[in-house]
Amino acid sequence: MKTTPAPLSRFSARLEPAATAMVWWEPGRRLEPMAVLEVPLRPGDSLVTVELSTICRSDLAMIHGDLSASAPLVLGHESVGRVVTAGSEAVDVDGEPLRCGDRVVWSIAAPCGACADCARGAWHDCLSAREYGHERVRAGWELSGAFATHIHLRAGTDIVKSDAAVPAVLLAPLGCNVAAGRPALPGTEPASDLRSAVRQVERAWRHLPSRELTAATLPLSRVDEALALAETDDRARVGVDPRS
Ligand SMILES: [Zn+2]
Ligand SMILES: [Zn+2]
Repeated sequence: MKTTPAPLSRFSARLEPAATAMVWWEPGRRLEPMAVLEVPLRPGDSLVTVELSTICRSDLAMIHGDLSASAPLVLGHESVGRVVTAGSEAVDVDGEPLRCGDRVVWSIAAPCGACADCARGAWHDCLSAREYGHERVRAGWELSGAFATHIHLRAGTDIVKSDAAVPAVLLAPLGCNVAAGRPALPGTEPASDLRSAVRQVERAWRHLPSRELTAATLPLSRVDEALALAETDDRARVGVDPRS
């Protein structure tokens, strides 16, 4: 009897040079770099290079020990980036396949991938969702936070493609803004979902004052300084740019 090989359901993306993620261990300790050479991807997963991660109040609460966390973990959940590689079933919120080079923004939570709801693709019903930037580092999902050169987006994450011209500082916080019910832009109503927030910013950004379009950014190796800077001035928007 003739058999056909099973379709490739998982594959590993090898990274050369290795991805770097900054690992948080405990309050008062500097973040430490971790190298990741290989990322195992399921069909709905994607690997994204981080363009910019903005610093959130919850990142600051975490490093001070004001939020409970299971360390070690990779902080950062407000980002924009570009797809490096994607599984055969990795799609955006419109069901469009993710392609290498797509500029994307994503939600702060990822479905667990293991429960009955996840098994039937009902991602939004998952009651055990994981949160980017808040998960203990574990084998196979080391790149779970955005203070890193790359992030591993799990199947079922809300992913929205965006216009390359939109300043990264406007796109990066949108996932967190939507989850927290904050407006995408000052003086507007909160968007109901991530897609709406991204489209709103795409329409409006050219009319914003220039100070809204920039952030104080530091390279990934200086993430501790970026966190300290975000702490000292509420008004400054501070980000980490892993490409610099
Ligand atoms: Zn946030
Ligand atoms: Zn689940």
